[in-house]
Amino acid sequence: IGAGPGGYVAAIRAAQCGLTVAIVEKQATLGGTCLNWGCIPSKALLDSTEHYHQAQHSFAIHGIKIAGKITADITQMMARKDEVVKSTTQGIEYLMSKNKITVFNGEGAFLDTTTLEISNGKKSQIISAKNFIIATGSSVTPLPTVPVDGERIITSNEAISLREIPKHLVVIGGGVIGVELGSVYARLGSKVTIVEYSERLIPTMDKDLGVTLAKSLKKQLNIDFHFKTKVTGATRKAKKVTVTAENDKGETLSLEADYVLVAIGRKPNTTGLGLDKISITTDERGRIPVNNLFQTKHATIYAIGDVIQGPMLAHKASEEGVACAENIAGKKGHLNYDAIPGVVYTWPEVAAVGKTEEELKKAGIAYKVGKFPFKASGRARAAEESEGFVKVLAAQETDEILGVHMIGPRVADMIAEASLAIEYRASAEDIGMMVHPHPTFTEAFKEAALDACDKRPIHI
Ligand code: FAD
Repeated sequence: IGAGPGGYVAAIRAAQCGLTVAIVEKQATLGGTCLNWGCIPSKALLDSTEHYHQAQHSFAIHGIKIAGKITADITQMMARKDEVVKSTTQGIEYLMSKNKITVFNGEGAFLDTTTLEISNGKKSQIISAKNFIIATGSSVTPLPTVPVDGERIITSNEAISLREIPKHLVVIGGGVIGVELGSVYARLGSKVTIVEYSERLIPTMDKDLGVTLAKSLKKQLNIDFHFKTKVTGATRKAKKVTVTAENDKGETLSLEADYVLVAIGRKPNTTGLGLDKISITTDERGRIPVNNLFQTKHATIYAIGDVIQGPMLAHKASEEGVACAENIAGKKGHLNYDAIPGVVYTWPEVAAVGKTEEELKKAGIAYKVGKFPFKASGRARAAEESEGFVKVLAAQETDEILGVHMIGPRVADMIAEASLAIEYRASAEDIGMMVHPHPTFTEAFKEAALDACDKRPIHI
């Protein structure tokens, strides 16, 4: 139930395992939040605006001159993004038919533990199955004091489709979605103000990352931050919205903007699913409780992705889908939650896997830190992208890599090597001994590992 990256991947893996599979999706297109309103459209806009920003600010140093004014055509940017989304979601339709998966268009609701009613306004039908996987995902968490109107007070769903460049965009929430979409419009020339309740950006990631990211964004773009500040309300008058907030010193703030983006998080989708009919109750955060095989309280009803505990990430949902389908097919599906990377597609990019320093301290685990700055990397200097660093955290006693935290050029791709290291329980020395191609950004990981191992990086 649900054709996001959790549901459609589970369906494909189940079909590969020889099961007869159907998928139920209430939206007109497949792919869920990720393909329609999340990962893919936001990355399409991040890529377009990165080119625009580079053309304006980075070309000159490389000796590239552009005659005339560089302008952004937001209509074309949005049209390209829509095309990317369309071809990607159509790709999922192809994969469903290739794997002989029956697609039902409609909202699925349990009648009992073996039957599901599917209604789409036009018709309603009932299907039964031996096993079900709930993969209904999540939607935007509303902020009661700032009611979304979808025009000027918006969520990420609208922010990926604006028809004009805001003059002043206030972003409520400095998490991943807030900084990514804030970056998109700041690169296009909007003034952006991010109001964040905690003391730093991307607060669930290692502290060094959020602090460095804020400094870097402030240096490049017209972005202001208000940390330790709570938004208390927003009122709209014609095309203007006034946002009020209060900081930890008790000072009040009034921000006037033409657009306000509410990005304080997401909540699991369980309403309308008929959970009451199968007596499943959600936990304190609205998630469906499951065991380590992804089974709910009923052995034949499983749940995966954003609707259960864990980070709300597409690749986490997909890997749970694979493991869950394998468990249903009688195999031994498994997922290592210590090796799930997280990425923020700002520039510089931010990426991490494993434990943060804060988590290791809290757990009382003794660790060593190795760090390597990109300004000491030949590849980074050649690319004129020498901001940021790689930080490796390794166990004091065994040298096992416990966490890797990166901010800098192309770290979104570099983090995969760190995930591999954690999955195979590599030591910092293992990575330090591996040959890395020169000159590449990846050498920074090797150098940080050598620094963590026994303070023997070569280039610092
Ligand atoms: P979803 O993708 O939410 O899919 C659930 C599907 O179930 C939906 O299509 C929904 O219509 C359907 N559904 C719900 N209820 C029913 C029902 N009763 N019957 C039938 N169908 C139903 N994650 C990353 O890893 N990387 C990123 O770069 C990234 N960027 C993001 C950017 C934005 C702006 C947003 C909002 C999210 C982003 N995410 C990113 C998060 C990612 O999109 C989610 O973690 C992921 O989509 C979760 O997958 P899922 O399959 O659990 O749920």
